[in-house]
Amino acid sequence: MHSNVFSRTELVRLGHDDTAIRASVRSGDLIRLRRGWFATPAADPDTVAAVRAGGVLACVSALRHHALWIPPTARGLHIRFSRHGERSRRRRCQGHGRPHPFVGAVDSIPIALDCAARCLDRESWIVIADSALATLRWSRTELASAMPACPAQVRRWLRDCDTRAQSGTETMVRLRLRARGYAVEVQPEIPGMGGWTCEWGVF
Ligand SMILES: [Zn+2]
Repeated sequence: MHSNVFSRTELVRLGHDDTAIRASVRSGDLIRLRRGWFATPAADPDTVAAVRAGGVLACVSALRHHALWIPPTARGLHIRFSRHGERSRRRRCQGHGRPHPFVGAVDSIPIALDCAARCLDRESWIVIADSALATLRWSRTELASAMPACPAQVRRWLRDCDTRAQSGTETMVRLRLRARGYAVEVQPEIPGMGGWTCEWGVF
């Protein structure tokens, strides 16, 4: 789902020159949010708010925009500002290592996960990372490669992710049972049960 918020660079890439952009702003087909950033009237409100504030939609908010499973405790509008971004009282999010350039109005899943590691606890982060792995159809190694600057703690969290998880609640159960010392088998094959698989099994 596109946010319908565009940088000038994106609009030019789509074939609109500055004259056409100005004409669209005058006609109301585009709304100027700040210098170099525009939205259609139907644009995603969270992305519009993030860009108006001087950043892009990031972290938990970007992950929600990408339709990942987000724990109900992860709230608020998460914005990533450029180093020279406007000052704002809104929540600021940032990843690890050198700041990523703004490619679009909504951060990609790997960049957003990198930011979210600073904003979330371990369980919430792993829940979303499990959902990301399922959505992207990536292995943990592929996701780690897309977050090269993330610290050792986040790499440990990533090792506790599981590409087979089918829901956020399943991930929570897996993590909580293992934290209490239970051995948990994910998606076990049950002989004689046909195609049926349990969400989780405890042995
Ligand atoms: Zn955040």
